[in-house]
Amino acid sequence: MSEVIIETKGLWKSFDLGDEKIHILKDINLTIEKGGFYSIMGPSGSGKSTLLYLLGGLDKPSEGSIKVNGKELMTMKDQEESIMRRRDMGFVFQFYNLIPNLTVEENIMLPILLDGKKLKDYKERLEELLEKVGLTARRKYTPRELSGGQQQRVAIARSLMSNPNLILADEPIGNLDSKTGIEIMELLQRINKEEGKTIVQVTHSRESANYGTHLIVVKDGQISKLETGNNEVRKIV
Ligand code: ADP
Ligand code: MG
Repeated sequence: MSEVIIETKGLWKSFDLGDEKIHILKDINLTIEKGGFYSIMGPSGSGKSTLLYLLGGLDKPSEGSIKVNGKELMTMKDQEESIMRRRDMGFVFQFYNLIPNLTVEENIMLPILLDGKKLKDYKERLEELLEKVGLTARRKYTPRELSGGQQQRVAIARSLMSNPNLILADEPIGNLDSKTGIEIMELLQRINKEEGKTIVQVTHSRESANYGTHLIVVKDGQISKLETGNNEVRKIV
């Protein structure tokens, strides 16, 4: 049986808007297996980012349980949770979220710096990642000197710096043209296949979901889970 990396049970996210209570996510029961490449799709405002942030501990559910690597996020101390997030998870966002006045290599090294580790112990890892994302020649550039696709490559390298098992990406190609988007999806697919990283991405595009192994469709606060790849879709539940 596959190893489970994230498991949610009875997950709700609700907002109190004065006299009205809105439920963004209703009773989400989801299992993310190690080595999978999951895509979350659904209409705008359906709760995709909210779900992704809950899975990564960036937001708290109103109710329910989230276990990451067997540990319950809800009962974890804040400090323990942030250490776990920094070491076991990498995040990639639509607008890259790079630090504008740091160079490519400084941005990639940031997780190590924040974790209080010695940069010199990670020189080899930095070279490997620069190579992997094709930015060795641009290591001294700052983000504004790079194209959108190159900036997203920096963000992907940064997400891999602490060698986490899990990468969470919110619309990683949402701000890119389709040719660049394909290149980024191919990079993510290589990271999934060659390094066995588990990836959960939010995407608007069915094409981009096809790079993955599973599709999670969010609609009216609930999900259905599908298997994808090779342009075939099979309903699991
Ligand atoms: P998606 O990523 O699918 O576009 P989101 O997860 O960003 O959707 O948001 C889902 C819904 O939750 C949206 O309708 C949004 O307006 C609502 N929402 C998000 N955060 C809050 C908040 N702090 N208060 C009230 N509503 C919120
Ligand atoms: Mg969103």
